[in-house]
Formats: sequence, structure tokens, C-alpha cells
Amino acid sequence: MDLKFELYDPKVLKALPKVTSPRLTTNQKFDPEGLFSEQIFGPVKDYKCQCERVTAPRGQRCSKCGVLVASSNLRKKIFAAIELPESVISPQAYNLIKSVQSLRTFYQQLLSGRYGIAFDDQGKAKLVEINIHDFSGTVLDLEQKYDVHIGQRAMEQLIINAVKNGNQSKIFNILYSLIKEGSFFTDYVLVIPPYYRPYKDKHIAEINQHYLTILTMIKNTPQRMTISNYLFQLELQKVCDGLVDDTMRKFGSKTGILRQKLAGKRLDLSGRAVIVPADIPETHAEIPYLILLQLYKLEITAEIVKNSNRTYREVFEMLDEQYDSKVISEEVKSVIDKVCTNQYVLLNRQPTLHRGSILAFKIKPVDGYTIGLNHLVVEPFNADYDGDTLYGRINITIGQNKYDISCHISDLESMKVKLDDEGNVIKTL
Ligand SMILES: [Zn+2]
Repeated sequence: MDLKFELYDPKVLKALPKVTSPRLTTNQKFDPEGLFSEQIFGPVKDYKCQCERVTAPRGQRCSKCGVLVASSNLRKKIFAAIELPESVISPQAYNLIKSVQSLRTFYQQLLSGRYGIAFDDQGKAKLVEINIHDFSGTVLDLEQKYDVHIGQRAMEQLIINAVKNGNQSKIFNILYSLIKEGSFFTDYVLVIPPYYRPYKDKHIAEINQHYLTILTMIKNTPQRMTISNYLFQLELQKVCDGLVDDTMRKFGSKTGILRQKLAGKRLDLSGRAVIVPADIPETHAEIPYLILLQLYKLEITAEIVKNSNRTYREVFEMLDEQYDSKVISEEVKSVIDKVCTNQYVLLNRQPTLHRGSILAFKIKPVDGYTIGLNHLVVEPFNADYDGDTLYGRINITIGQNKYDISCHISDLESMKVKLDDEGNVIKTL
């Protein structure tokens, strides 16, 4: 499934819940129709509706406030949309237009509101200056009188004309197919889940501001088909384009949200830490309790549940709490020691270039935040101790008994680091 195109699909957007109000809060709660609505995106606190007291069973909406009694994780997953009063050029089309110098120039001039496009007998486009203040009538009159195309529609006409006159360029043809399938224009703006654009977060403030500007503009939509409406359309287009640009920047760059929130944790049951030299056999690695807590969470939880009368949920919450506060109790530490005896961890250093980039080690749990390694085994990773980080992970396979989750490492013997006669590490394993 290509997420990008699914989310731009007009049918998908039409079916999404709609954000309609530029108000963020009402009575110190998130506004039910606003950008952070708990009714739309799910509760801020786990299994708590806005009434503070749980009135509905889990999985149902509260009859008073209408908030679904569910996990706050919903706020990471639910997308919404804003319905626009006028069509604007869609994000895909905008990104394509931006990528071609000549189209970009035409586009900027058209959006300034002072130019239209006219075609000569050969179908060649040229910019025509228009003075909308000379015509007291509607914009429509202007178009009919001079056969000048204006605004976003001129862009569409420009592309149709170019392709019909034999323009073979790939981007023109993609744009043309967007026009034919009706996705050159859109009536909706996608609203990303609130988790990725937190309330009052400075880093992301521009994105929320764009949404707010759009919602405020919609409230003040002028009468149809007047000159001010023409300028309104252009203004709406500019805000939507700004939103696309800022969203791409915030999400795409190295410090962007996708890399920060997703890429760093793309492997479940994995952790990452700086490596330091340690006085241990080369078959062992010192792994911080904090990482082991994540790697062996399932086994640790099972072990604690087995020896106490606590439920899985309670233990999970306790472990999460200890992980977040970075303070692990002696009780949990002893369970980790027990669970990790004779277990192996796979250590990986990016970039993974050859088999030596991933090696298996016996676990030796330690306090602190660093992975300790015998310096003999650092070479296959092509790493040193100046702050290099390694990923630790375990491979989980489901055994014959489907409840038996166990850790397998194939052919451990062959993965051991060996030394040649002169004491150098043999890299090929
Ligand atoms: Zn309620």
C-alpha cells in the first residue's frame, strides 16, 4: 500500500472526520470541532473522556461529551481533513509544478494575481498582465472578454495545452494524468494526527498555524464570483502551499518528526547505546539494564507475573514507568539477570556492510547507559570508542508451540570472532 497516495485520494479525504473550527479550546478543554479535538482524535488521557469520570465502558463513546473511551495512542493514528470552500491545486500537483523551473515561474506570477495566461495561434503560452481594478465586473467577464486564463485554472490549461502540443516531458505527463483523473485539484486539506504536531510545541508551531489560517479564512469566505473571491482563491492556495512546504520540511529533514519519532525506533525490541571498552571476554557484551528491559520485556513480564499476583497490564505499566524514569528497581534487575542468563544479543552497527556488522554476544547486564565490548571485537564493526553507537536486538521467532517465544541465533559458532596467527581480527566470519 502506498500511504502517500492513499492519503491524497479524494475519496479517502472525504471520508475522514472534519475539523471545522478555528477555536483550539473551549472552557479549558480542547474544542470538539477544533484541531486538537478529543471527539475527533481520541482522548488525551488513556481511557478518560472529557468528563474526567468514566461514564462509558471501554471502546464506547461517552454519552455526555462524545469522546471515545480508548487509549490515547489513538491520537497518533487518526487523520482528519478540512473541507475547503474553493478547490486548490493538490499537494502532489503542487510539488510537481515546483520541480520544473518554467512551470514554477508561471505559477508564481499567476498567484500574484496580476497576471493571466494567453495562448497564441501555435498554442504557446505567454503571461498577460491583467488589471483587475479596471474592471468593476466579475472575474468571469475578464476571462470571456480577453480569452485570458487566470488563477489556478490557468495552470491546468497550461499543462493541457503543452501536452496536446506534443510536450513529452515526464512531469508534464504526470500532471496531465492528474488532471484527467480529477486529482489535480482538491477540496480538502489533510490534517495529520495531533501527536505529531503537539499543542504549543514551538518546533511544529508553523504547521498548526497554517491549519488555523485556513480555518479562519473559511469562516470569512467572501461571496462567490467576485474579484475579492478571485484573490481569496489565490490566498487560500498560498496558505495550502505553505502548509505542504512546511510539512515536507518538518517531516522530511534529519531533525524532522519522521526521523525523530519513527526511524530511531523502527525496530521493535531494540535499543541503542554508545560503546565503551570493557574488561570482559570477547564473546560477551555488557548491556545496560535499560536496554535489556526493552529487549526482554515480554520474558521479564512473564517471569514477574508468574511469581506474583500482579496482572500483565500492571507489570507492563510498572516496567514502562521504570524505563521512563531511568531508575530500575533491584527486584526487576534480579529478574533481568535471571532471564538473560545464557541469552544472546545481536549487536549491529550502521551501516551494515557485511556479516561482521552484526555479531552475537552473550549478555552481561550492567548499570549505566553504555554497551561495553572487548576491544578485539570492535574492528569488524569498523567502530571505535569515540562515541560510536551500536544497536542491540534479539531475533524473535515463534517456535512449534505458538506461545513459546524464544531467541534463536543461527550458527553461533561461525559468528565468533577469530584471531589469525599474528593476533589480528579475522573480518570474514
Ligand atoms: Zn464524557
